[in-house]
Amino acid sequence: MICLMLWLLLLCATTAQAENDNIEVAQDGLFQLLVLPYDYDALEPAIGRKTMQLHHSKHLKGYVDKLNRLIVGTRYASMPLSRIVVLSDSTVYDQSVFNNAGQVLNHNLYFTQLSPDGGGEPQGILADAIDNKWGSFNAFKQAFNNSSAELFGAGWVWLVCDHEGELYIVQEPNGGNPVTRGLVPLLGVDVWEHAYYLDYQNRRSDYVDALWDIVDWSVVEERYEATGVIENNCQSAIEMLSEM
Ligand code: MN
Repeated sequence: MICLMLWLLLLCATTAQAENDNIEVAQDGLFQLLVLPYDYDALEPAIGRKTMQLHHSKHLKGYVDKLNRLIVGTRYASMPLSRIVVLSDSTVYDQSVFNNAGQVLNHNLYFTQLSPDGGGEPQGILADAIDNKWGSFNAFKQAFNNSSAELFGAGWVWLVCDHEGELYIVQEPNGGNPVTRGLVPLLGVDVWEHAYYLDYQNRRSDYVDALWDIVDWSVVEERYEATGVIENNCQSAIEMLSEM
């Protein structure tokens, strides 16, 4: 019986992974809605079921559907998602493409870095880099919380690395993603009100505080390690994002 349950769990996890393998690349010209690797209520109490359901099935789906409508028959139709974000940001004519592509990329990164088994502290070279930059993990969290509280209006706060592998906390307004500045997004926190208002109302800081309990640091570590920081070449991570 236990073996059967384990097999079913493995099958579910494998299926979700297979469905998400190509979320950064349009299939037959259409981007797919990310399949969450957990249930809508799995991140409670940090994020409530209703928030997750609306955020994924309404907000993210809306961005995916709009992006698909916008890129039909354009130069963006066959591009990886992060390339669409970078290129559409470079022209004032394609701001709708940029807004929706950015939000799809942002949310795909956001939802996949959270887990009901998250929390704790990062390990390995990411932990070392955080200690080198901020002195301690707690000091990093405080700096991140402050940046989240100070961001005016809707946007995102990111832990990123540059081409040297150095870490920074950066803010992006609206649907911005740090790939447009040549930075690699490692951890992104959505501070649009739709991400927290049902659970926390105006208390954005309480929402960000609660997120530390559900961050899957193994995912963030993988993103950092994939940057090829050891070879001092974060560009490879941007290319990897493009190929996902
Ligand atoms: Mn959102």
